[in-house]
Amino acid sequence: MLPMKKFSRFRRALLVNGLLAPAMGAVSLGTRAQSAAPVLHGSDLTHAALLRDTALAARLPFELMASLVNEVGPRAAGTPGDAKAVQWAVANLTRLGFSNVRAEPVPLVAWQRGATSGAVTGTNGRELVVTGLGNTVGTPEAGIEAEVVYYADFMALRGDTSDRARGRIVFIDEKITRTRDGSGYSRGILSRISGAVEASRRGALAVAIRSLGTDADRIAHTGALRYDPQVASIPAVAVSVPDADWIAERAGKGEPLRMRLLMARTSRIQAMSNNVIAEIPGTDLAGEIVLIGAHLDSWDITPGAQDDAAGVGIVTAAAHAILNGKQKPRRTIRVVLFANEENGFDGAHAYAARYKDTPHQLVGESDFGAGRIWRIRSRVREAALPAITAMADLLRPLGIAAEGNEGSAGPDAAVLMRTNNWPAIDLTQDGTNYFDIHHTVADTIDKVNPGDMAQNAAAWATVAWIAAQADVAFGPIAPRR
Ligand SMILES: [Zn+2]
Repeated sequence: MLPMKKFSRFRRALLVNGLLAPAMGAVSLGTRAQSAAPVLHGSDLTHAALLRDTALAARLPFELMASLVNEVGPRAAGTPGDAKAVQWAVANLTRLGFSNVRAEPVPLVAWQRGATSGAVTGTNGRELVVTGLGNTVGTPEAGIEAEVVYYADFMALRGDTSDRARGRIVFIDEKITRTRDGSGYSRGILSRISGAVEASRRGALAVAIRSLGTDADRIAHTGALRYDPQVASIPAVAVSVPDADWIAERAGKGEPLRMRLLMARTSRIQAMSNNVIAEIPGTDLAGEIVLIGAHLDSWDITPGAQDDAAGVGIVTAAAHAILNGKQKPRRTIRVVLFANEENGFDGAHAYAARYKDTPHQLVGESDFGAGRIWRIRSRVREAALPAITAMADLLRPLGIAAEGNEGSAGPDAAVLMRTNNWPAIDLTQDGTNYFDIHHTVADTIDKVNPGDMAQNAAAWATVAWIAAQADVAFGPIAPRR
């Protein structure tokens, strides 16, 4: 329970500023006692509400997202599209008036796919809609043709101690469920990441997986796989969901199926990309950083409107609202657009190493599409919880609920959090429809709602501002056990 008498002083500050409706119940953020010392001044809370409402009315997040998609398009790390994205980011962050705009080099290995096709052969065969998984090797020039061996999911493959995959093409029919928080995807992801290794261990020639998608369209979803140097690297593709259903139906009837896969040589080369950084310099605590980020790269086959041009638009617009506000932040607000989130987190690792000695008050990332935010979760020192409560109160009118202090952060930010024990915020977006288009050609602008993006930017502006102003250090946090 909260020490109500002391806590009410804090609530009164919010009430005075019109930020907390008198009818509201006590802020629920776990059951631990919270510090009574006011960690924010009334003027900071008033200003936060102003920033929130200003950002909520802006079209900038959508405009930036559309600009990155239309003017750059696909931007896989290390490719010319990626270099163009870096230029785009530097130009736009400069144009918007940020300080210290810079591109910091990130060395990486760039993977490039070859042309890919697949089919079930024979009298009742058909061409399949397939895409190579990220990092896959190609097939021999003549392709690979072999009998298909069906597994209902990844665990069925991993549990198989028989010899039936030997000399065949493994098909994994792992289905993912539609969920708001993306947990369905998380549960299915091993089929993509480790399917090739498990199939190869059993002597398979190649692996085809059901796309990790919740759609029913004839589009294939790519995404990274991992090889094990101890095991032969075999080609890996994803087939579209309707094609997977068709294969499953035939396999279920016991029909023998032969599949042919053809994938031109893929390559892995040393390349360079950049993290793009922009700042709003702080005042009395300028040496401490409030980081809000997104990733600049996309997969090669997609314009990446939601993954992650949306995040780029959201955090940039959030910071822009603060930049244009009448008050200057105490801490430095830093927008970081990370390199190569999709295939190795190289940008996050480079950033974590480069800035390990710079205090970070907060790290957060927007990288789960363009749906509305419905939840805030923190991972901060206990002493900082009153500031999180203040955030939660400000976010409630946006339809966002607080859920504890065991949160993590978006993928790159999670790398930073784990590496340097920096405190983190997760603003969870509604991902109900995200995996319909994730890592596909269909991740396009038309599926993005400008109002939803503005709600995101409003939330991030609020969070970043409160983190910048609070009279309490959010970190460092204890390492996760
Ligand atoms: Zn992403």
